[in-house]
Amino acid sequence: MIRIQEHVDLFPYNTFKIAAKARYFTSVTTVADLRELINHPVYKQHKHLIMGGGSNMLLTGDYDGLVIKNDLRGIETVSENDSTVTLKAGAGEPWHAFVIFCVTNNYGGVENLSLIPGTIGAAPMQNIGAYGVEVKDLIKTVEAVDTSSGEMHVFTNAECEFGYRESVFKRKLKGKYFISSVTLTLTKKNHVLNTSYGAIQQTLDQQQSVPSIKSISDAVIAIRQQKLPDPKVIGNAGSFFKNPTIDQSQYESIKKDYPEMPGYTSENQQVKVPAGWLIEQCGWKGKRIGDVGVHPHQALVLVNYGNGSGENIQSLAQDILASVKKKFAIDLQPEVNII
Ligand SMILES: Cc1cc2nc3c(=O)[nH]c(=O)nc-3n(C[C@H](O)[C@H](O)[C@H](O)COP(=O)(O)OP(=O)(O)OC[C@H]3O[C@@H](n4cnc5c(N)ncnc54)[C@H](O)[C@@H]3O)c2cc1C
Repeated sequence: MIRIQEHVDLFPYNTFKIAAKARYFTSVTTVADLRELINHPVYKQHKHLIMGGGSNMLLTGDYDGLVIKNDLRGIETVSENDSTVTLKAGAGEPWHAFVIFCVTNNYGGVENLSLIPGTIGAAPMQNIGAYGVEVKDLIKTVEAVDTSSGEMHVFTNAECEFGYRESVFKRKLKGKYFISSVTLTLTKKNHVLNTSYGAIQQTLDQQQSVPSIKSISDAVIAIRQQKLPDPKVIGNAGSFFKNPTIDQSQYESIKKDYPEMPGYTSENQQVKVPAGWLIEQCGWKGKRIGDVGVHPHQALVLVNYGNGSGENIQSLAQDILASVKKKFAIDLQPEVNII
């Protein structure tokens, strides 16, 4: 049975800690709830916003519609053999708790994605990734409910059209499906351990740990706790912008003036450039404007020091975009969903 509340403060529901209100608010714990909701007059008459952990969105003002908090829970084993296990997780399960469940059971694959906030259901939305691993490499299928008809659709991995911080759900099917569960295949033995990215190997060496699912997860947690601001302490949504990809020729040309410019060759002679480096070069790192700013240790992370509004953050983001464009002729794209 669903219950729709009115004028609900969204402050506790978003990691930017923006004090915006939802005209209507409800939570769903089952697919049946969701189907009931789709037939409700409030749903039919208003726009709606699906909310998981609110860790990848910027609320730019009050939401004059219905916010649907995803609380679909449960983890079940779909199939397993000697070497792999396939798990289906309810979309409202917290991502990191799922990672810990896997690590505890010696299921390999997600350990590099430890400590990413948010829900299982939002993981395929932007194909979450960290420390050399993307969730697309583990996802088998995504079950989603059509937000108009209530019908269930099972998307294969290919149908999700995953890309760098992208999927079909973030692009052409935006708002059209409510992801209700995600099915992932993990290894039970012969785990493929990825220690080459970032400071993982260095941290393992310092801790004198042998690489394993558990030690990698612990190392990633330690690195992230050191590097990234904790949203419980300071409002943020992780990386605000995506790392842009530019032509090799543009990269070479900028490198003439900035020989230290980092870049990673990707497909089709394109080079991926760290957005944080570009932002830092424009002098933004550590800058504070009123109650919002750019994190002093992570130029890619915009922060709310307390009473910043969504508009304040958006305006800061626009100023950053403009200065990166002016200095480097590169267009940054937000990774965060602007609501
Ligand atoms: C400190 C910090 C570190 C982070 N580090 C990383 C990182 O390393 N890598 C990374 O990829 N991301 C990172 N993020 C971003 C974020 O945690 C992830 O993108 C996460 O998957 C978002 O989950 P969520 O449940 O909070 O999504 P929300 O913010 O609630 O929603 C994000 C978008 O998805 C939609 N959505 C949510 N759930 C569903 C659903 N069930 N069906 C359909 N649409 C849905 C929403 O409408 C919204 O548009 C970080 C964020 C923070 C705060």
